[in-house]
Amino acid sequence: METKIMIRYGELSVKGKNKKKFIHLLAENIRQVLADLSDIKVSEYFDFMFVKVDKKDEEEVLKRLQHVFGIQSYSPAYELERDFEQLKQVAKEVVAERMAKDPIQTFKVATSRSDHHYEMDTNDINRELGAYLLEEFPNLKVQVKNPDLTVRVKVRFDDFVLSLDWIKGIGGLPVGSSSRGILMLSGGIDSPVAGYLAMKRGVRPVAIHFASPPYTSPQALDKAKALAGKLTKFGSWITFVEVPFTEIQEEIKEKVPSEYLMTITRRMMLRVADRLREKFHAHCIINGESLGQVASQTPESMFAINAVTSTPVLRPVVTMDKLEIIALAEQIDTFELSIEPYEDCCTVFAPPSPSTRPKIERCLAYEERMDVEGLVERAVENICYEKIDHVLPQKEEKTYQDLL
Ligand code: ATP
Ligand code: MG
Repeated sequence: METKIMIRYGELSVKGKNKKKFIHLLAENIRQVLADLSDIKVSEYFDFMFVKVDKKDEEEVLKRLQHVFGIQSYSPAYELERDFEQLKQVAKEVVAERMAKDPIQTFKVATSRSDHHYEMDTNDINRELGAYLLEEFPNLKVQVKNPDLTVRVKVRFDDFVLSLDWIKGIGGLPVGSSSRGILMLSGGIDSPVAGYLAMKRGVRPVAIHFASPPYTSPQALDKAKALAGKLTKFGSWITFVEVPFTEIQEEIKEKVPSEYLMTITRRMMLRVADRLREKFHAHCIINGESLGQVASQTPESMFAINAVTSTPVLRPVVTMDKLEIIALAEQIDTFELSIEPYEDCCTVFAPPSPSTRPKIERCLAYEERMDVEGLVERAVENICYEKIDHVLPQKEEKTYQDLL
């Protein structure tokens, strides 16, 4: 048996002539996150979308849709012929099925019409269907404000759509609708959260990770890759790029005084990130910097580091406290992975006392000692990258009622 899920877009509705493109992107992302399930069919309409699923997969699909950006709300729905008797029958069946899962006591019928010429108006339908359900389920009561269950009927030109619970979606914009962005993904707590927040506003991340073997381990790289995998549930696939950073770090270590190590390292990272932005046709860079968190994240440091590019650098967690970032990391299920103890390239080379107020002139003077262009060039030339497809979320113990 098949069932349908109706998806509503919210903010997308106001996107003017881009709307069609956005809807299409959302549909693609939904197909991706459901790709391993059989018989999925996504149909796009102007103000909603139907996802046809096998009845046995319904709960799983409802759970996965929780994470897809661009969905404002969604609900199991039934598309019926315009036959009021049939509507009553189906409403009875789905209410009975719902009551078997959940001890509801109150309900109401809420009708809307796109076809205003239909013989019954919204009040007629609310009243007649309500009365019928009351008769069939004598334990239920009608309650207009905050009922346990709302039976929604939409009268369209050639059919009725019946839906019950509206599940709140995650909101945001479909991933991919705001171009691509280079996500500087360390293995820490902050950058996956930054990536998630940028995705929320439609950016498709290309995750880049600077690795400095043999100073950093393969496990550190795998951890970053696994973090990128965690982000795929929010809207499909992610490109993961490993950037060889050893040569740059060794060169900096040799040529730059210790208090400027961190600043110059960051400037080099940003230069490489910017070059990769061009290569991957992205329009911004995203990192996990948070004001005042460490020496490289003071406004003075950011100023000196950011001076190497005019590309927008998005810092979605810049004003968040660490505890707020951790709360989000837990919510998106990256925290546990982030706190696994594998050394990052920055910690290996971390100077004992980095400058919190670096000066651009001094940066430039130290960089004179290195072949900046050649170093960046070689790092970019030697990247390895792969597409990480949607990784199935681990079984979550949520029930249908938890979603409501
Ligand atoms: P995080 O928890 O994200 O590692 P952090 O507080 O440890 O952040 P830093 O190590 O100073 O901060 O790094 C600041 C930002 O620089 C990170 O959020 C990330 O965006 C980027 N970054 C740091 N190290 C790497 C790396 N090895 N590869 C890619 N990006 C990195
Ligand atoms: Mg870090």
